[in-house]
Amino acid sequence: GVHGVRLDSGPALERGPVALVLQDVTEARRVEAVRRDFVANVGHELKTPVGALALLAEATQGAADDPETVQRFAARMTHEADRLSRLVRELIDLSRLQGAEPMPELAPVEVSAVVAEAVDRTRLAAVAKGIELAVGEQPDLVVLGVEAQLSTAVTNLLANAVAYSPEGTRIAVGTRARSGFAEIAVTDSGIGIPRADRARVFERFYRVDQSRASTTGGTGLGLAIVKHVATNHGGSVSVWSEEGLGSTFTLRVPLAPAPAEPAEAPTDPA
Ligand code: ADP
Repeated sequence: GVHGVRLDSGPALERGPVALVLQDVTEARRVEAVRRDFVANVGHELKTPVGALALLAEATQGAADDPETVQRFAARMTHEADRLSRLVRELIDLSRLQGAEPMPELAPVEVSAVVAEAVDRTRLAAVAKGIELAVGEQPDLVVLGVEAQLSTAVTNLLANAVAYSPEGTRIAVGTRARSGFAEIAVTDSGIGIPRADRARVFERFYRVDQSRASTTGGTGLGLAIVKHVATNHGGSVSVWSEEGLGSTFTLRVPLAPAPAEPAEAPTDPA
């Protein structure tokens, strides 16, 4: 459960049952407040594209005798509809990752396949900005995971790197093994993240700059999804960033145990 009496957080017996109940109530209130904020945020985020669509539909009716304007409004409606469907898709992803559905069984996944898939999915956006996606020499790493989730996570990191980098820059993807984990690092030379915002960018709907985010078309859910994928795999995600210099996001996922080597060649009974 999300909340409950936390027996691991201190000398519970010394505090007695009243303290425990109070702590439980406080935690329940906090969870409730988070839920309320979330619903309010979702409502707000849905309102913007839905409102724009309604206005555009009305304006299109008024412009029926001007085919050029109709075309222009239709293009904007497509844009708003895309935004809306991305938001809905990401909300569904997030609710699944937060336990609305059981986590699929973990299986060995090749990290290079995850990276290749993510690069494929972001290549067009990168090309459109003249950004080079440079994938470094990759060791053969196998993690225990859900391939689709890991691809989504790396795709989100790459998509952000593209979105928050100027044209003509370079994004590097590096992988390595470290202390039982595979590390996948995405490094950009983009705008960077101010120190005060760094810890919060993984929160749902948190954006460094609302106005900037609306021009890049972000939903504010991408990094929350990455964080849940990491946590569900027993891993983590972290960020290094310097304003004006760029950012590195590092996703860590436990390596799969090495497959047991057969002790000797199978003997032929014949
Ligand atoms: P969004 O859909 O707005 O990109 P995310 O959850 O993916 O939402 O990211 C949250 C915020 O973190 C972004 O709005 C942006 O301000 C900041 N951010 C994420 N990745 C980067 C990056 N590579 N460089 C600079 N800022 C970033």
